[in-house]
Amino acid sequence: MSRIHLLPEEVASQVAAGEVVERPASVVKELVENSLDAKSTRIEVAIKRGGSSQIVVVDDGIGMDRDDALLCLERNATSKIRSGEDLSHILTLGFRGEALPSIASVSRFRLSTREREALAGTEVLVNGGRIETVRDGGEAPGTQIEVRSLFYNLPARRKFLRSENTEASHVEHHLQLQAIGHPEVGFVYVRDERLVFQLAPARHLRDRIRDLCGAQLVEQLVELPELSFEGLKLRGFIGKPGVSRSTRAQQYVFVNGRAVENSTVNFGLREGYHTALMKGQHPVTFLFIDMDPAAVDVNVHPAKREVRFRDPGHLREAIVESVKTALESTRTDWSNAFTMADGGFRKPEGKAAPASKISSPAPDPAPRVESVQAEMEIPSAPVTLRHDWSALPLQNPPPATPPKPVETSVTPPAASIKSPKSEIQNFKILGVLGKLYVLMENAEGLVLVDQHAAHERILFEQLRRRMETQDVPAQRLLMPLTITVTPHDADWITRNVETLHKMGIGIEPFGSGTFMIDTLPQFMRASDSLQLIRDIIEELRETSKTTSKLRLGEDVIAKTVCRAAVKANDYLREPELVRLIQDLLACELPYCCPHGRPTMIQMSYGELEKKFGRKV
Ligand code: ADP
Ligand code: MG
Repeated sequence: MSRIHLLPEEVASQVAAGEVVERPASVVKELVENSLDAKSTRIEVAIKRGGSSQIVVVDDGIGMDRDDALLCLERNATSKIRSGEDLSHILTLGFRGEALPSIASVSRFRLSTREREALAGTEVLVNGGRIETVRDGGEAPGTQIEVRSLFYNLPARRKFLRSENTEASHVEHHLQLQAIGHPEVGFVYVRDERLVFQLAPARHLRDRIRDLCGAQLVEQLVELPELSFEGLKLRGFIGKPGVSRSTRAQQYVFVNGRAVENSTVNFGLREGYHTALMKGQHPVTFLFIDMDPAAVDVNVHPAKREVRFRDPGHLREAIVESVKTALESTRTDWSNAFTMADGGFRKPEGKAAPASKISSPAPDPAPRVESVQAEMEIPSAPVTLRHDWSALPLQNPPPATPPKPVETSVTPPAASIKSPKSEIQNFKILGVLGKLYVLMENAEGLVLVDQHAAHERILFEQLRRRMETQDVPAQRLLMPLTITVTPHDADWITRNVETLHKMGIGIEPFGSGTFMIDTLPQFMRASDSLQLIRDIIEELRETSKTTSKLRLGEDVIAKTVCRAAVKANDYLREPELVRLIQDLLACELPYCCPHGRPTMIQMSYGELEKKFGRKV
C-alpha cells in the first residue's frame, strides 16, 4: 500500500531545513527513527569502523511497497504529514521527508523493504544519490537499509570525521537514547561484528534501564510519582538525592517519545533537585513528558532535538513538583533500612546507658511537641563562642537537660510528623572515625555518616521551616553593629531585607551603603557576626549569578546561612550522636547536605564481602 507523497512546495518550505547528515551517528539516528515510526518491534543496528565504512539498520516494521521504496528517496517525500496544519501536532519522530534522500546522496546506499502481507519485496541500490538498480527482493517483511562508504563523494566532509572510537561512541549514545525512549522495542547493536548490546522488548521502563545501564543504577533511582498537570503527564525515574554526574550524559529526557535537549527542562530539574544536587553536577534522569502535541513545536531544528514549548513556565513547575515529590519519597526507603531487630545504641563498656530512653521512646505524640519546644529553647542558651553541637535540636532530649516550658504553641516540623518513630529508632552506632564519620550498623551493613554534612542538613531544614513560620529565634544585640558594603551589595541587601528579617537578621539601611544590624539568629556566633554577615552576602551574590531571581529566595538564603553557621567538627557525646542521627533521619531529604554532598554512605554486606574476597 502506498503511503508516501511529495509535500507541496509551500509545506516543504515551512519545514525546518538543513543538513541532517553530519556523521555516522546522525545516519543511525534518522534510520532508527524511521524504524520506530514504522512500528517495528525489533531493530538491529550494525556498524563497521565507526560507521564510516558501513551502517546497517534492519527492522521488522510495516515496510514499503515498490512505489514508496522509490518515492522515499525523493526530497520532501513523506508519509507522516500532508499539510502545514499537520506541522502543529506531530506525533511521529520524522516529518521532513529529507533523511533518506540526504543519506543516499552521500553514500552507497541499499534499501530492501517488504510489506508484511506482500509476496515479494523491493531492493533499490543508490550510488551517491543516483538510483542504479531496482529489483524484487526476497527479504523478510520489514526494512533493511545499508549505508556504505559514508561521504565517499564528499572528501572534505569525510575528513571531519573523528576517530572510529569517537564516532562509534556517538552512535552508541544515540542508540541508548532510542532504547530508553522505547522500552517496548527490542534493540540489537553490533559494532565491528561484536555484539555490544541485545535488549529484549521490556514491559516496564525499569527493566530497560536495568538491561542497558545495570542493576546498580536502578537501585540509585526513584520513580516519579504519577502526577498529571493540566495537559501534561510526567513519568519515569530520576537519581535519588546525592546521585549525580559531571556531565549530562545520563540525563535522558523525552517529549512525546522524542529525545530532546531543552533548557526549560534543565531548569526545572535543577530547581526540583535544589539542595539534593551538588554544585556543578547534573542529575541522572529518565524523564518522559507526555503532552498535547499542539503544545510543543518540534519543527525548530532539522535534527529535531530542539523543541519549543507553548507554556514553558507550566512545564517547569510541573517538573519541579514532580522531582521534589519523588525525592522526598526516598526518605522512607532509607529510614526503613534503619529498622533493625535488635537496634539501639551500642553501649560502650562501663558507661551509663543514656540511650535506653532513646531506643524505646514514649509512643504518644506529646513528647514530640515537647521536643519541638526543646528545640525552640536551644538558642536561649548563652551564645557560645564556637558552634555548640549540643545546641542541636532534640527529637528526644536526654534526661539530663530537661526542656524548659515555652508558652508559645508551635507546630511540629513537617518531617517529624511524616516519619513514624519506629522508622528511626532502630540503628546501632558503632563509633566515630576521625571525629567526623559516624559509623553505624543497619540491616544492610555499614553506614557512614558525615556528621558535619548531617548537621548542615538538619540546620538547613530547621531554619527553612522556621523562616516559613517567621519563627527564627533571634537575639537582640546590646550594641548594634554597622556594616558598610559596596553599592552593588547594598542594592542586594535592600531588596532582600524582608527575607533577611524572616531569618532573624535584623538589618536596616543606615545611609550611603551602611547598614545597621541589631538582631542576629541565635545560632550565630556573636564575636564574628560581622564577618559572618559579609560571608553570607558574598556567597549570596555568587549564588545570584548562577541562580535565577526566583530561586534566590528563602531556600538559598537558609542554605547559605547554615553553611556559615556550621563550624568545624567537634567531638560529640553519645546522646548527641544519637540525636544527630535521629534528627537527620527525620529530615525531608536526609541523604545529602543542602549543597548536595552525601550525608550518609551505605556499604552493604555484599560490597564488604566482595572487598574481602568472600564473594566475587
Ligand atoms: P520522514 O521520516 O521525515 O518522513 P525520511 O526521508 O526519513 O522522511 O523517510 C521518508 C519516508 O520513507 C517516511 O515517511 C516513511 O514513509 C518511509 N520510510 C522510511 N524508513 C522506513 C522504514 N524503516 N519502514 C517503513 N517506511 C519507511
Ligand atoms: Mg525519517
